Amino acid sequence: MSKITILPDILCNQIAAGEVVERPAAVVKELLENSIDAGSRKISLSLGQGGRKEIRVVDDGSGMSPDDALLALERHATSKIRTIEDLQSIRSLGFRGEALPSIAAVSRFEMVTKELDALSGTTIRIEGGVLKDVRETGCPAGTTITVRDLFYNIPARRKFLRSIDTELSHISDQLLRLSLANPEVHFRVIHQDRQLYDFPQVKDRMERAGQVLGTSIRSKLQPFSVETQQLKIHGLMSSPDLQRPGAGHLFAYVNGRAVWDRMLNRAILSAYETVIAKGKFPIVVLFVEIPPALVDVNVHPTKREIRFRNPGEVMEAVRETLRLTLEGSITPGSATDLGSLAPLQAGRPFPRSQYTWETQVPVEGGLGPSPQARPKFSPLQMDAFQVPTPSSLPPACRGENEEGPAAQAASDSVMVSESSFSRLPFLGQLADSYLLLEAEDGLIIIDQHAAHERIIYDRLSSVSAKEPAQRLFRSMVVELLPREAAKLRRWMPHLNNLGFEIEPFGGDTFVMHSIPAVLGDCSPEALIRDLLESGSEDEHTPQWSLLYELAKTAACHRAIKANQRLLIDEVRLLLQTLDQTRIAATCPHGRPLWLKLGYDEIARLFHRT
Ligand code: ADP
Ligand code: MG
Repeated sequence: MSKITILPDILCNQIAAGEVVERPAAVVKELLENSIDAGSRKISLSLGQGGRKEIRVVDDGSGMSPDDALLALERHATSKIRTIEDLQSIRSLGFRGEALPSIAAVSRFEMVTKELDALSGTTIRIEGGVLKDVRETGCPAGTTITVRDLFYNIPARRKFLRSIDTELSHISDQLLRLSLANPEVHFRVIHQDRQLYDFPQVKDRMERAGQVLGTSIRSKLQPFSVETQQLKIHGLMSSPDLQRPGAGHLFAYVNGRAVWDRMLNRAILSAYETVIAKGKFPIVVLFVEIPPALVDVNVHPTKREIRFRNPGEVMEAVRETLRLTLEGSITPGSATDLGSLAPLQAGRPFPRSQYTWETQVPVEGGLGPSPQARPKFSPLQMDAFQVPTPSSLPPACRGENEEGPAAQAASDSVMVSESSFSRLPFLGQLADSYLLLEAEDGLIIIDQHAAHERIIYDRLSSVSAKEPAQRLFRSMVVELLPREAAKLRRWMPHLNNLGFEIEPFGGDTFVMHSIPAVLGDCSPEALIRDLLESGSEDEHTPQWSLLYELAKTAACHRAIKANQRLLIDEVRLLLQTLDQTRIAATCPHGRPLWLKLGYDEIARLFHRT
């Protein structure tokens, strides 16, 4: 008997589903794309349990004839291409003919569809890839697809579904990306009985951006539009003072298709290179229109990646467009030095004064001090130092991998021998980053930034009762992306315990009334945004782990930076406070706080022994 067999269709579809249908958000994306391709003007999405229980998409698009409706559920059945050449001029979002059969193979699936002038419609029911029912039905024109119990027949996959909030936030993300590019479509989203979004039809993408990002953010974005022979690059971009801690606010589209292209993102970021600090991100909605023949959309199962024929040119054009808009060099009607790029129309440039340039421009020569300021030392071997290694410390001192409150308690008993840094003679500051102290048995070097981080962490985490709160001078409204909002909703009770006072303010907007008094001098909004960016995606973030994240984030906000000259009083205060912290060996990131170069080691280095 032959060892090789051809797999049955159901199995093929289930396997394909593994690529196409990763989670409810992927189903939503495929269904919405189909509705958009069908020319719908109104699409509503309703969800049960974050899409795990039910996903229903109702559209008023072209609908399908009974024959087409059945065919659409076959593998590789598509109305969108006929030949491979068609891929070169593709305008639709779909073309692989895989989505419907894949989804139907891993759910309880129902499709009700009718063409505009047909007398009746068709209902088709499929369960786990098996056709259960085909019937003539009375129904409105358009298509309604209902997907229930996703992965009910594939327990291994079902196990990977996350909480309702998490799945919902992924769905929202997909919806926002799709709706930004399709302002002619009215999108409505309902979860259980709550309406999450309602974006009525608007005249262009700029207006849609107002609906999706919120009008206050939208009003701070600068439109840009540049056209060359082959390319049109247009969209909206933020000024450098509107920053986000993550890349979640980069929305890139190629011919109307939302893509996540590393090179495009890099091109966007490189335009901001000199005005935004590393690790911070702008808000950019970028549309690239390019002849379809110059881009390959068939390189990824969910089509989120693409390949340009001529990536260098595209990236350069994107970068230059953004850079010149940032500089204010593209002004209405003026010629630019974009070379082959002639401005189509561009809006008002950002007024320079709007930028907070002083804080954004990186220090010349990067993070380190200038070479002449750096005292010259004979090259030292690392093993000459006594470094308190993370592995030699109990878990609570080690940073990320600690085990929880128990480990934290264990750390209370750990005291470092040098708990009196402030009593040692202070020799000076090295490279504006390290404090040098003379100990009885050697030279102590303290990393000032790490030390300050540890102090803040310690202050925050040693508070056991409800932290005293500091009311904000004015309550602050923070607009978030769905993913961030889901996290914040989850964390709100914990944060409110720690002295924050945060309330939902409708949709993905929150209002903040107070922050913990310890963090009184942080920017509340930046703190929350960074926390949301860095905090774990874990469903059940325990209080202690959140506290840890918060302390880390807050410490980075407030910490005395490396490369900062300290006044002698600041040094003294730092050392005294450090003496009072419980674990002075490592910073909350697990890096060592201080190390010692013993006299015997120094002697050995000078060959004195
Ligand atoms: P693809 O979108 O790649 O063609 P799908 O499996 O997603 O493949 O859909 C198969 C076909 O079913 C589509 O080509 C289209 O003709 C039809 N179809 C799917 N959804 C709809 C819809 N909402 N309205 C009209 N036709 C649809
Ligand atoms: Mg499709």
